[in-house]
Amino acid sequence: MRTPQQFLDSLDDGREVYYRGRKVENVAKHPVVGVAARHAAKLFSFERGFPSEELGEEVSQYYRFPRGAADLMARHKLVYDTTMRCNGVFNISQAIGSDALFALTAVSKKVDAAAGTDYSGRVRDYYRHVATKDLTVAVAQTDVKGDRSKRPHEQPDRDAYLHVDEVTDDGIVVSGAKAHTTQGAVSEEVIAIPTRAMSERDADYALACAVPANARGLKFIVRPIDELEGNSSNVLSGKDFELETLTIFDRVKVPRERVFMLREHAFAGALAVTFATYHRFTAVSYRAATSNLFIGATSLAAKANGIQDASHVRDNLQLVIMYKELMRMSAIAAAQTYVEDGGLAIPNPLYTNIGKLYSNQNFGRVVDALNDTAGGIVSTMPAQEDIDNPEEHGYISKYMTAATSGDERIAVMKMAKELAASSFTGYLLSLMIHAEGSVQASKLALIRDYNLTEAEALVNGVLGAKPAEKRP
Ligand SMILES: Cc1cc2nc3c(=O)[nH]c(=O)nc-3n(C[C@H](O)[C@H](O)[C@H](O)COP(=O)(O)OP(=O)(O)OC[C@H]3O[C@@H](n4cnc5c(N)ncnc54)[C@H](O)[C@@H]3O)c2cc1C
Repeated sequence: MRTPQQFLDSLDDGREVYYRGRKVENVAKHPVVGVAARHAAKLFSFERGFPSEELGEEVSQYYRFPRGAADLMARHKLVYDTTMRCNGVFNISQAIGSDALFALTAVSKKVDAAAGTDYSGRVRDYYRHVATKDLTVAVAQTDVKGDRSKRPHEQPDRDAYLHVDEVTDDGIVVSGAKAHTTQGAVSEEVIAIPTRAMSERDADYALACAVPANARGLKFIVRPIDELEGNSSNVLSGKDFELETLTIFDRVKVPRERVFMLREHAFAGALAVTFATYHRFTAVSYRAATSNLFIGATSLAAKANGIQDASHVRDNLQLVIMYKELMRMSAIAAAQTYVEDGGLAIPNPLYTNIGKLYSNQNFGRVVDALNDTAGGIVSTMPAQEDIDNPEEHGYISKYMTAATSGDERIAVMKMAKELAASSFTGYLLSLMIHAEGSVQASKLALIRDYNLTEAEALVNGVLGAKPAEKRP
């Protein structure tokens, strides 16, 4: 198991990263990108070890294959606790990579059985490489996709989806780009998997592979971190945030042993969905922890304003508590009623997707609840520079005084502002809808897999055997 510093040192590996139009020489030392690197590094200061029988040594618990309900419950707790220790901000560093490795393990066996390939052995070797070296892994699933009404092979620019350019003696060459890759620029490995089901004509896009983050031709363009740079009174983003990248593959060479799917189009959908199910289980687990930020800020803002006993404020708090606990309930239900697949426990997709959908559809109300409780001050409070200016501080503190001292209320309202009325709020509003798959993706999964037989039989029973004949 590595230390935070060993991890940070490993990021100085010649990777190609851009931030606000400039190349970043060393991501860990960059004033902004470095915060995301140090956030990732926190993982290495936590107790994560478990003795792996498969690998014959102690590795991170993130790389523990879930074999049943107890393992999934432990994984839920691991993700939840890690998020809490990172100030309520998800730490994706080994979570998403292990989600992808579990999905690759399940699906590669099926591809091998159908197509006579040897992907499962390669996945096992790569798993050993990642787990025993305690590496962090970003997952690039979401392609840039071009015109959404067109399938991959119909796109005018074939780079809209990651695809194989060339098969060489020792591997493949791939091109295209993936969007929104969380922590791409500060991870050590990148796994690419398909974003959707593929038809035969999309075979070149049915591709899964892994490369180190410093692979030649791999380029990361980091999103602007407005929550840190545009809010001088931030209290959270200076400590923890995760970045996303536009991840460009410009003729990246992938050695054969790191290719896990190549043109087996019939299995692209299964890989996309199995990964999504694991990753949404991770999502409801971290989102439950992140919700504590909103519960805590709503409660403290109410107390600072002296309104904690008002009925509408209690309603606000109840709404945010329910949001959190529904995430948790869905994770627990999904773990307890897991689906067995070749010795792996996959979280129950129905309960996972219901939790994820609830999160998608109700996060806006959580933000509303905090805004309503905190008051307009979250939009209009003076900047940190004013709060720090001795000429102004006395006035600001005096006029911020409510049920608590002015300085105490300023501290709480800075947090409320960051959560409910800042660039970070905008980022979170988008994240809670799109990250870990769109609303539509969860709805489709829910309806597609729902067994309607029991409910229809009940209604048919009430109506009689042939309800249509009874009508006039
Ligand atoms: C903060 C954040 C972090 C993320 N992290 C990762 C990550 O680490 N790795 C990763 O791979 N991805 C990541 N994602 C990507 C995430 O999974 C996608 O944002 C999500 O799947 C939606 O895809 P999109 O953004 O391309 O939206 P779009 O697909 O462009 O969706 C926009 C709208 O178009 C609709 N739409 C799309 N296609 C069609 C169609 N054919 N017909 C009708 N309607 C359509 C959608 O339903 C939606 O309403 C992240 C996203 C966010 C916001």
